[in-house]
Amino acid sequence: MLKDKEEISDILTKLERLFPTAGCELIYHNTFELLIAVSLSAQTTDKAVNKVTPILFAKYPTPFTLAKANHEDVANILASIGMYKIKSKNIISLSKILVAKYNGIVPPYQSDLEALPGVGRKTANVVLTEGFGIPRLPVDTHVERVAKRMGLVKSDATTLEVELTLMNKIEEASWHKAHHLLLFMGRYKCLAKNPQCLDCFYKDKCKYDKKPLK
Ligand code: SF4
Repeated sequence: MLKDKEEISDILTKLERLFPTAGCELIYHNTFELLIAVSLSAQTTDKAVNKVTPILFAKYPTPFTLAKANHEDVANILASIGMYKIKSKNIISLSKILVAKYNGIVPPYQSDLEALPGVGRKTANVVLTEGFGIPRLPVDTHVERVAKRMGLVKSDATTLEVELTLMNKIEEASWHKAHHLLLFMGRYKCLAKNPQCLDCFYKDKCKYDKKPLK
């Protein structure tokens, strides 16, 4: 049985106690930097992204400068993160579009964001909720894993179904916070390979059948 709204609210309260500082761990100073940092973070840790973005943004601080960047130079800056070649191409291309279509301003609309190279639904959702304060509940690999293990969503739900189910069961005002809390739970406790179930507040109710409990 999936958890109802009250149970999920209770779980979020407990997660808030566990992770009182849960929030965005990517370092950024404006929506352009946020968009680039989130795009770079796919299949890479935020820590790794935070190491390269200060160098990238010092040299290419705006869409106008990044649009004119040399691909090899950007790739060299990003070389320590996963898929850096394609990511370099994407962020240069998306900067060109920001300049040509939006006068260098990141658009606050999902469809416009998702039309940019390398920007999918999750990235667009993060930019909307984090950068523009528009309520969204981005679902990444951590959020999806935790939501399924805890029985908040069906175990065979698609990523989009996870997002829509959570949005339906959580108050809109809490979507942003819920995203960070579930993400922190997945990143720091309910790890993909070695979840720390022994001292998890949820171990007696958890749906994950491979819990290491010894
Ligand atoms: S008991 Fe283990 S698998 Fe279940 S939520 Fe806690 S850490 Fe995750």
